[in-house]
Order: sequence, then structure tokens, then C-alpha cells
Amino acid sequence: MTKALITGIAGQDGAYLSRSLLDNGYEVVGIVRKERLGAPLPRLQALGVAGDVRVVGMELTDLSGLSHLLGRERPDEVYNLAGQSVVRASWQAPIQATKDTAQTALTMLEALRLSWPSARFLQASSSEMFGSVEQDRRNEATRFLPCSPYAVAKLFAHLSAINYRDTLGLHASCAILFNHESPLRGTDYVLGKIADGVARIKLGKAQTLRLGNLDSRRDWGHARDYASAMHLMLQQDRPDDYVIATGRTSTVHDVCRIAFGHVGLAMEDHVVVDPVLVRPREVRCIEADASKARRELGWEPLTRLEELVVEMVEADLRRIGR
Ligand code: NDP
Repeated sequence: MTKALITGIAGQDGAYLSRSLLDNGYEVVGIVRKERLGAPLPRLQALGVAGDVRVVGMELTDLSGLSHLLGRERPDEVYNLAGQSVVRASWQAPIQATKDTAQTALTMLEALRLSWPSARFLQASSSEMFGSVEQDRRNEATRFLPCSPYAVAKLFAHLSAINYRDTLGLHASCAILFNHESPLRGTDYVLGKIADGVARIKLGKAQTLRLGNLDSRRDWGHARDYASAMHLMLQQDRPDDYVIATGRTSTVHDVCRIAFGHVGLAMEDHVVVDPVLVRPREVRCIEADASKARRELGWEPLTRLEELVVEMVEADLRRIGR
């Protein structure tokens, strides 16, 4: 049986990846923070996988602990999904964000080198690494100009994975992930905030939804599709880096229109633009060129934005209505 080790298993992507790997017959072991061991894992429960994965509590900056774990478990594939994943929060706690994202990735790479170098490794890199670079269709050859502590830490982790691949021969690949969402993501992110707000307004529990820049434009996909891309990446004999995105961008305004339209309301009656919510430094319009993943992995995103938004609104109507 193929065995996978997932850091950040309790997060959105950890849950979808676990589901996909279990469906493919894998044994799945996940790492959570020590203090979370034994606590409920709601995202894994939501996808019906909580009882089918084995969860270990470990500090991801503990090189010796990780080395022992890898030597004992001998996973075929290691997915490094752990990290502080909210860009805005990384401005509030930049040192912690850097530790959670950069130091943890390097520690895992070093543990692999020391005790289990035959594993295939995937780093969850981010489109935020492109930052304010002046190029509209971003692909694997685009240079990086990160403009948040989150993005700088992600770039360190990304370059470390490439360094261990090119210099030490590790089978390390980086998924340069554009935004991906689902009902599991929560209200820290704009799609989750919109879905939650629309559901509350529809159920009569709120009147308004406060948002930042409505013209902000992103490429949004479904986390389930991105989990399958990450899995496909580690099935390749040659490790490599891939942009994972739908290739279509939409604005926050577009998302509001879909979400309010789905419940029969007009967004103009409820959305309030709040300047406080505008990011200190907005990344430019991010357009993605994921043609390499399509060509070399045969990967296609299966979920359209409309379907994603409706799924999220419906999930929030059920959750808030209970
Ligand atoms: P989540 O925030 O849902 O999951 C991240 C997980 O990492 C959480 O369970 C978190 O646990 C865990 N984690 C963070 N720091 C540590 C640590 N020091 N030790 C152990 N666990 C830790 O994010 P997603 O699932 O959405 O994303 C997965 C990865 O992909 C992340 O690295 C994210 O940055 C990256 N990514 C995601 C994108 C997206 O649109 N979703 C886009 C680009 C990249 P806890 O709750 O205890 O902090």
C-alpha cells in the first residue's frame, strides 16, 4: 500500500488531499501541532475521513522528531501543506508566519535528507510569491517579487525545495497554487466571507456585507481539483514545478453577483465597501498560465467558479440555518 505523510492535514487542502489519497487506496498519516492532537478535526470529519487517517502530533521545527518519524513511517510521498495561510495575518505576526512556513519547510527537507531521502516531496507554494511583478500571464518562468511576509516566507520554502532537488537530488516538486477555496475554508478569505455574509443576509441574521476592493481580481478554483493536481505531480518520474490555476480570473464583484444572485438578492442592496479592509499593498491582477500542468500532468480543473460559489453559499445556508 502506498503511504503518504501530510503536514497541515487538518487544513482545507489536507482534508481534500486525504480524501483523494484514501480513494486511491493510500495509507495516510498526518501531522498536526502537538497541542491539537486529540482535538476534533472538523474539516476531516466534514469529508468523512477523520477515522481513516492516522494523526501524529509534532512540532514541525523539531528536526530530530521529524527525522525519527520519517525513518519509522517511511512514506512514499510527503505533502508539505502546513503553513500560516492568511496573507493579512502574516502582517500582524510576521515572525511567526515565517517560522510556520519557511522554517518548517526547511526542517522537513533536512529531515528527509538525513533519514528518508527516497520519498517524493511536494511543497505547497503560492501565487502570492509573484507579488507585484509586472507580467500578466504568470507561469513557472515568471520572476518573483513577493510583497507580504507570507509571500516572502513561501518563496524561501519554494527555493529551499528547489535547492534540495537540484543540489542534493531529492525528488522535490513545488505546486505554485493560485487561490483555491471550498466550503471548508472559512471566513478569513474573501470567498468564504461572501458566502457566509450572503447566507446570513438570506436567513435574516444580517443586513450588510462589508468588503474591501470589489475590483480585486483573482483566479479562484476548487480545493478538490488542486488536491488532485498535487497528487498527480508526485506521480511524475521527474520532479518539477507547476502553476496550478484555472486560467480564468474574476473580480470580487463577480463573486458577489453569483452569490447574491443564487439566493435571489441584489448585491447593491447589501454590500458596503469599507476602505479599512483594503490590503496595505494590493498584488496586481493575477492571471495564471497553467498550460504546463495541463500539458505534462494532463490536469484539468473540473469545477467552474459559479459551481464553487454556489456550493459554498449552500453549505453556509445549511450551517447557519442549523
Ligand atoms: P489551511 O490554513 O486550511 O491549512 C494549513 C494548515 O497548516 C492548518 O491546519 C495549520 O494548522 C497548519 N499549520 C500551520 N503552521 C503549522 C505548524 N507550525 N505546525 C503544524 N501545522 C501547522 O490552508 P490550506 O489548506 O488552504 O492551504 C494548504 C497550503 O497551501 C498552505 O501552506 C497554504 O499557504 C498553501 N496555499 C493555499 C492557497 C489557497 O488558496 N488555499 C493558495 C496558495 C498556497 P493550525 O490550524 O493549527 O494553524
